[in-house]
Amino acid sequence: MTSRVLVLGAGYAGLPAAKRIARQVYRDEVEVTLVNGTADFVERPRLHQMAVGQDLTVIPLQKYLGGSGVRFLQGWVQSIDVDAHAVSVSTGADVRHLSYDILVYALGSSTDVGAVPGVREHALTLDAIEWAAHAWDAVRGLEPRATVVVCGGGLTGIEIAAEVAETMPELSVRLVSASQPGHWLSDKARRHLHHVLEFLSIEVTSGARVCEVQAGNLILSNGRSVGFDLGFWAGGFGVPALAREAGLAVTATGRARVDDRLQSVSHPDVYVIGDAAAVCGSWGDEFAMGCRTGGFTGPKVADVVAARLTGREVEPFKFRYIHECISLGRKHGVVQFLNADGSVKQRILTGRKAIMYKNATLNGGRMVFKHSGPALARRRHLVKDGARTISGTSRQSA
Ligand SMILES: Cc1cc2nc3c(=O)[nH]c(=O)nc-3n(C[C@H](O)[C@H](O)[C@H](O)COP(=O)(O)OP(=O)(O)OC[C@H]3O[C@@H](n4cnc5c(N)ncnc54)[C@H](O)[C@@H]3O)c2cc1C
Repeated sequence: MTSRVLVLGAGYAGLPAAKRIARQVYRDEVEVTLVNGTADFVERPRLHQMAVGQDLTVIPLQKYLGGSGVRFLQGWVQSIDVDAHAVSVSTGADVRHLSYDILVYALGSSTDVGAVPGVREHALTLDAIEWAAHAWDAVRGLEPRATVVVCGGGLTGIEIAAEVAETMPELSVRLVSASQPGHWLSDKARRHLHHVLEFLSIEVTSGARVCEVQAGNLILSNGRSVGFDLGFWAGGFGVPALAREAGLAVTATGRARVDDRLQSVSHPDVYVIGDAAAVCGSWGDEFAMGCRTGGFTGPKVADVVAARLTGREVEPFKFRYIHECISLGRKHGVVQFLNADGSVKQRILTGRKAIMYKNATLNGGRMVFKHSGPALARRRHLVKDGARTISGTSRQSA
């Protein structure tokens, strides 16, 4: 008897989840398969660094998976049939139909390019390594004093603008945002952020939404327009439609609703983690998208799934916000420490300390991908009908 666990998406949540499940069960009893569109791990929080030509190490997923017992399939998930427990994956050469007993859905998010007309055609986004490389070609090809606009005053937009301004001081960089960039930060952090934006000569245009992106021109909600030579779009992330299309219970933003074991509230054989999951708590119905949030769901779901397969129960998922790390080029940054519910503390780090803190956090992520743990866990045998032993329904009714 073999159980099949299928993990979709090898990002911050899915990669450690797959490895950590495999580490806790016997290979001849549980087959763990990881599906991902790309062969390399995409370190999304460093893509803005790649977009200004920084030479960063790209690690193939197979390297992280070596010796873990996880089977890897490179391909793009096309559809999920939750009734038939089957997933269709396009590998480029053919379409594979994979069956599962337990599905872990970790397909993450990407820049939402559909909400505003013209974004797809006229702006760059940073969602893939090749796109970051393409962005660097475009940035370094600009004439001195050319204008780069970055749309979006959230974390990603701020980081892109700062990186471009620091690397190419001869360019004119403008950050366009409906609200003040960093408006959610503590006063101290916001003051520091604006001080650095000014130091980097980044012009901030806020108070109006971008309604349309045209070739070389932004149309704002107040009727004004902003010309540009190169535009980046960082107006927020959206999740793939696959969860909704499969019939999973989702929120208005399309994130799959999960319970405190990260189990889909509508389909007990499906677990959802990372940006794709709507995890509710003291912060509301969904926590923020980010590795600082979703990154914690990978190891947890692994323990939940391994426990289910081997006839045990585990503690519910407990999460508390810790920090938000914003890099402002390579010499400046802000780390905003947070209360458990995501509200801001007065404590911050700035400058090189902040950069070192953020690098340590990202490098810590790499360590987790290499050694996904649990360090001292022993493998356990699959119990009879392991995949069906503890479903959300039976647990809730127990
Ligand atoms: C420029 C930038 C800077 C950022 N900085 C920060 C930061 O400082 N702090 C922070 O917390 N977050 C940051 N983020 C956000 C963070 O990267 C994401 O929230 C995080 O990667 C989400 O993890 P995940 O595992 O849910 O999804 P992902 O890491 O996106 O992984 C999902 C995986 O699924 C794959 N996939 C998607 N669809 C399919 C499909 N149909 N078939 C097969 N495979 C598929 C993708 O290729 C990917 O490998 C940043 C993002 C960007 C773009």
